[in-house]
Amino acid sequence: MTRASSKPTTTAIKTAVANNEAEVGNQVSESSLDLTVELAAAVKAVRLASHLCDNVQWQLRNDEKVEKEDGSPVTVADYGAQVLVSWSLQRSLPGQTFNMVGEEDSADLRTEEGGPVLRRITDLVNHTLSECEKDATLLTPEDVLELVDAGRSDGGKTGRHWVLDPIDGTRGFITMRQYAVCLGMLVDGEIGLGVLGCPNLPQWSVSDVDCNDGGCDPYDERGIGCCFAAHVGRGTYAGPLFVADKDEMPGIKVHVNDLLSPEEVRFMESVEAKHSNHVLSAAVATEIGLELPSLRIDSQAKYGVLSRGDSSIFMRYPPDSYREKIWDHVAGVMVLQEAGGVVSDAAGNKLDFSQGRHLPYLNGGLIAATPSMHRLIIAALAKIKEDKTIVYGEGPTYRT
Ligand code: AMP
Ligand code: MG
Repeated sequence: MTRASSKPTTTAIKTAVANNEAEVGNQVSESSLDLTVELAAAVKAVRLASHLCDNVQWQLRNDEKVEKEDGSPVTVADYGAQVLVSWSLQRSLPGQTFNMVGEEDSADLRTEEGGPVLRRITDLVNHTLSECEKDATLLTPEDVLELVDAGRSDGGKTGRHWVLDPIDGTRGFITMRQYAVCLGMLVDGEIGLGVLGCPNLPQWSVSDVDCNDGGCDPYDERGIGCCFAAHVGRGTYAGPLFVADKDEMPGIKVHVNDLLSPEEVRFMESVEAKHSNHVLSAAVATEIGLELPSLRIDSQAKYGVLSRGDSSIFMRYPPDSYREKIWDHVAGVMVLQEAGGVVSDAAGNKLDFSQGRHLPYLNGGLIAATPSMHRLIIAALAKIKEDKTIVYGEGPTYRT
């Protein structure tokens, strides 16, 4: 690498924290919205869907060759989680108009080949209901199709839209790493609430471990499985995911940690190199004086990890042709912002969730971080872009 990096001092970071207070204030908005009932419904729905996913993962442990194809347990769990969220929200909020932007639709399940898959999903959902919701009437395959299709909303600038990724981080799910059930709500194009269910995330800090390197045993007795819940203007709360009472709200208020010096900071990125350019994130890390290796974690669990202070930065640089889907960020962004973090595109612009199922062009990526780290990264990216050391675009590369 030819570029000299000027390493920020701890004092510089603390100044950046102070300078960013206004910026954070903008993001953690004061809001008159009251979504208390909706947040409680979202937590319950995520707990239920996470229970289903966790059951399926136990089955997957015995079948290492499973890929995401029709009929695989992964496909069945994806649909099953969407069905349970859709069922649970409508049951908790009777009388409310229900719109949801969900990742899955029922087209494949309505084909002849989809028949057996539909039956498996129905069995799985009914098994979970019989375990967790004893008074529920069991669902028919037609009910299941209808509940999947409840996720067909296109979102947009007006009205209330639930936004769901039933299993975010499918690769992580398949390989026993991290994954998340992610549910948020847009109100007139702005995020009103976000809930993350992270079944394999330890309740203890993962700042010193690579969760994808055998360091976070999902069955560690110290407590695995975290739930994060955030309401606009009211902060982010975390707690155990698997609890006896699915109505229980997470009770520990969390906040990002913006007091670390660059030598102490861990940054996060995708495990999958095709989801995010690892070379570019390493170059940015060097530019701002980070010394520790990246923490690679699948899914929006990264936003939860950031919100409780285990890490200070999440960088995402997908190929230029890739358009980010709103369900991959809505819940996580709310969890982070309400914990004092900042999220923007690679040019520092606020994310716009009001344009339908996709986010608009992100100028090369997405940065989620503590206020001071966010500021440093946006400045570093501008500098890197200017000196043409990094080539943006399809599969950006780092020229040495
Ligand atoms: P992560 O676990 O952070 O790597 O992100 C997982 C999400 O990345 C999935 O839910 C996909 O929607 C999304 N994804 C799939 N393909 C790509 C891609 N080529 N670039 C960026 N993200 C992708
Ligand atoms: Mg996803």
